[in-house]
Amino acid sequence: AVIGEGRVIRNTGSSYIVRLDNGDELQCRIKGNFRIKGIRTTNPVAVGDIVTVAKAADDADYITAIAPRSNYIIRRASNLSKESHILASNIDLAVLVATLREPVTTTTFIDRFLATAEAYSVKSALIINKEDLWDEIDCELADALKNLYESIGYPVFFASASSGKGIPEITSFLSGKITLLAGNSGVGKSSLINAIVPGADLRTGEISDIHHTGTHTTTFSEMIDLSGGGALIDIPGVRGFGTIDFKPEEVGHFFPEIFRISRDCRYSDCKHTGEPGCAVIPAVEEHYIAESRYASYLSILEEASEEAGADKYRK
Ligand code: GDP
Ligand code: ZN
Repeated sequence: AVIGEGRVIRNTGSSYIVRLDNGDELQCRIKGNFRIKGIRTTNPVAVGDIVTVAKAADDADYITAIAPRSNYIIRRASNLSKESHILASNIDLAVLVATLREPVTTTTFIDRFLATAEAYSVKSALIINKEDLWDEIDCELADALKNLYESIGYPVFFASASSGKGIPEITSFLSGKITLLAGNSGVGKSSLINAIVPGADLRTGEISDIHHTGTHTTTFSEMIDLSGGGALIDIPGVRGFGTIDFKPEEVGHFFPEIFRISRDCRYSDCKHTGEPGCAVIPAVEEHYIAESRYASYLSILEEASEEAGADKYRK
């Protein structure tokens, strides 16, 4: 018998925690085939899904239907695997937590995250954490990054989970939205969640000495309610975010400032790697497009081209 509808707020690996509209939380398993056509996923049900729950004859609770997702974000389950993992669904925003030191988040990593969000048509923003550690040069770098990304259209917040700097602004920005929060481990994502959501009580890790990565990592996505409405979806930070398969000819579409200028390229399939009449390369030379962004574009393009070549070879 159907018990009701609710949202999946946690994935424990073997089961899913569903919060019903009346606030009750049920531990559910899956009944039925919810596979997404054309993609092999390790988890058929994702945190964020709106689902129907029913009680079976054995008295256990089951997810029996998933409402159509407005969006979902996946990543490859492992580097070698063709299987994907759905990190979250039905989100309003994707935010990357980055740091300038301890650990260093590369602009390539940031750009890959932003391009992936573009690919899913999800709005995105950046939080640069650990502001309390910045010296003068870091402050200049942070300002330069803020100017760069905000000029493209991505809001950038500076924060310190330690001192509380930036937390009120971030909290009001996130209020009412369902936000996927990503970040390499060690950047202070858990500490930030604890600062934004008093009582969330996430465990925070110490930075390990050799790899400069946090020792504590969440294994599954989890949804954490915000007091002013909306929620954060904390995704496991081990391998980062954004290993989706781009087609080489599409990569430029996911860099808004490159895409805008590429309309002036002579050839519509221009990859901006030295083709005659390319408008993008002069724009990089004239600093209308940041070199770091163009470098990230090239690295994703190269990966996409290798992938496309490998696919051809396999066929
Ligand atoms: P996560 O792996 O991204 O969830 O990172 P954690 O929240 O576990 O934090 C990793 C380490 O960074 C811990 O030792 C935190 O105490 C530290 N940390 C987190 N935020 C800040 C911050 O704003 N400033 C400083 N100095 N350290 C921070
Ligand atoms: Zn071009």
